[in-house]
Amino acid sequence: MQAPPYFESKLPHAGTTIFTVISQAAHEHGAINLGQGFPDYPMSEDLVELVNNAMREGFNQYTHMFGYPPLRQTLAEQIHQRYGLQADADKHITITPGGTYALFTVLMALLGQQDEAIFFEPAYDCYLPQITLAGARPVALPLQSSGFGIDWQMVRDHITGRTKVIIINTPHNPTGTVLTAVDMQALEDIVQAHPQITIVSDEVYEHLVFNGASHCSVLQSPLLQQRSAACYSFGKTYNCTGWKLGYVVAPEWLTREFRKVHQFNAFSCFTPTQVALSHFAASPQNHATLGADLQDRQQYFQTALQDLPLQPLPVFGSYFQLYRYSDISSLGEFDFCMQMIQEAGVAAIPVSSFYHKPNNQGLIRFCFAKKKETLQTAASRLQQWFQKI
Ligand code: PMP
Ligand code: GLN
Repeated sequence: MQAPPYFESKLPHAGTTIFTVISQAAHEHGAINLGQGFPDYPMSEDLVELVNNAMREGFNQYTHMFGYPPLRQTLAEQIHQRYGLQADADKHITITPGGTYALFTVLMALLGQQDEAIFFEPAYDCYLPQITLAGARPVALPLQSSGFGIDWQMVRDHITGRTKVIIINTPHNPTGTVLTAVDMQALEDIVQAHPQITIVSDEVYEHLVFNGASHCSVLQSPLLQQRSAACYSFGKTYNCTGWKLGYVVAPEWLTREFRKVHQFNAFSCFTPTQVALSHFAASPQNHATLGADLQDRQQYFQTALQDLPLQPLPVFGSYFQLYRYSDISSLGEFDFCMQMIQEAGVAAIPVSSFYHKPNNQGLIRFCFAKKKETLQTAASRLQQWFQKI
């Protein structure tokens, strides 16, 4: 049915997200879903038990608007250990219903009409619509065509007096690249030169860094700590994406503004999971091996695909790896993914969906956060398909 003539959409160009479209198509065709980023292996039994216990013990009412206090305390200690920041659980940390909500709330708190927000493409799909909903102008800058790094000179060239936000994402969805100390230095120089700019740092894959490397966070820099909101997701860390629970770490002034928006939206988040995580997140061994585990899956899948005409791009973290298929098909990325779902029974995400304008580079994104059996079956299906086409 048509919307009434007086109605003006706030997101006239938005359709259904690519993750929903591809998951739906995968479901309809019985395809293995290596598209949407979620693990198909179980989360920790201990954590499930802790949630059950919390519910039985009566933690079923609203918790504190900032988040369950012992969980914020646990996070403050973890953040100090990992990044050296003396975060104050009351002044700097707020629990949110997921990382996406954390990003949205920060952008709503920071941006208004006439403001501009810079972000980098390919980009996780929520940044552009969230900036638009906050009333500001999205400024999409391309990552470098080789290696997907940030061209900091290009960033400096696009900063105006109206630039209020720069969104970064490391480890990066969809490319699996990571930012380094050099990038953090470039950001420091920028916020020093432009006092009106705040960094919104999407670090939901903080633990999923490969080759034994450590994650570079804005929270490690005394300067960037004061000028950034860092957003995290428990779903990505503890293999429970359906929990939709996350948190934001921000300086006091920004946390205050953040909570003004948050208190009139979600207000507070599901209590039993927060109680459970206040115990579980306190043990570093519950997240210490996540990067190595994911890298093992990534390498397993890459090896399983090695004889196929799909060229893997380098990956340094996250759930995702890009593959180039242009040696075997001239189809656009979306059409190629649909053909692969229908004929091979394997789903991936077209990388063009991470751009605001069509940009076909012959690249697809696979999620390797899956059981090895799933990855092996997907590889066998692709092998059979490639013999036919
Ligand atoms: N940022 C990135 C880069 C993501 O891939 C995702 C997807 N999980 C999110 C944010 C959102 O996380 P959540 O599911 O906790 O909202
Ligand atoms: N972050 C997930 C991905 O990139 C998807 C989350 C969602 O479906 N919104 O696949």
